[in-house]
Amino acid sequence: MARDLIDLHIHVGGAVAPHVLWSIAHQQGFKLPFKDYWEFCDVITAKPSRVKSLEDYLGILHTWTEKIQSSPAAIERSVYEIIGKEYRGSRVTQIELRFNPMKRNLGGERDLDHIIHAAIRGMDRACLEYDCRAGLIFCLDREFDPRLNGILVDKAIKYRSRGVIGIDLAGTEKSAVELRPQEVDRYREMYDRAREAGLGTTVHTGETHGTGAEGVAAVVEKLRPDRIGHGIRAVNDERVMALLAKAGTVLELCPTSNLVTRAVSGWDELREVVRTLLDRGVKLTINTDGPYLLDTDMAREVAALLEERVMTEDEVDRAIAVAREASFLD
Ligand SMILES: [Zn+2]
Repeated sequence: MARDLIDLHIHVGGAVAPHVLWSIAHQQGFKLPFKDYWEFCDVITAKPSRVKSLEDYLGILHTWTEKIQSSPAAIERSVYEIIGKEYRGSRVTQIELRFNPMKRNLGGERDLDHIIHAAIRGMDRACLEYDCRAGLIFCLDREFDPRLNGILVDKAIKYRSRGVIGIDLAGTEKSAVELRPQEVDRYREMYDRAREAGLGTTVHTGETHGTGAEGVAAVVEKLRPDRIGHGIRAVNDERVMALLAKAGTVLELCPTSNLVTRAVSGWDELREVVRTLLDRGVKLTINTDGPYLLDTDMAREVAALLEERVMTEDEVDRAIAVAREASFLD
């Protein structure tokens, strides 16, 4: 029997079907420099021929998807469509959808509260139709100045009783000062404040080879997040894996994403990473990151892990149980 699945790590920017984005763009009179729909599809999907790194992948998001999603009507429809699609396509009955509202308001041209209310409306409509549970996570950005990230935390707290369930920290670590563990301190106060307000906390870190295990250690020790987005580079250091196991920090594993962005060289390396983490008692969950951008969905993530012998059936069930426990939804 098919499993009911749960997705804890999925970005609004990578999860809306091309035909829906195309429709939204047209509805808003958005000027698109593409010959036709097929060229558009090609550009907004992370084709292995064009995506060689995490930076290439994020570039697609920033250039097109975020812009098209930058209005109340666009974000409402995006959130609504994602939840319905995950339910219909993969029986995802619980979903935590993340995005940065400040990357959906055209640099302040649109009102942030209108964007947030619209996202909540889209979520409520989909949950009502499909009888599933959902919550929103706001992504702070490593490239934002602290004042803007602070406002995002304020907004997450303000809308906590309306369906915003947590905060995340996203953006590339490659050139970021994040590589110096002391820079993680910049987010400490924000994470403390979010936690005290009852929000869940997660951080993107330890995704690519460049970031290393020490970045993961710094995040666990200083920000004390409930979960970590990716975090797979912890395998480089026994001390860091022990730290994760002891703290009970849950890793949000995104297999296809790691393959597409070359965070791992292939299934063999991913298998090695997952086997090592499980062996050291690190808690893992299975997630999509961006189903349309990456041409995947929850059902296919699970099937691939089984097929490539990365996890057994029991381990998949365990990962789903871990996801339920680690969910920020009450
Ligand atoms: Zn992510």
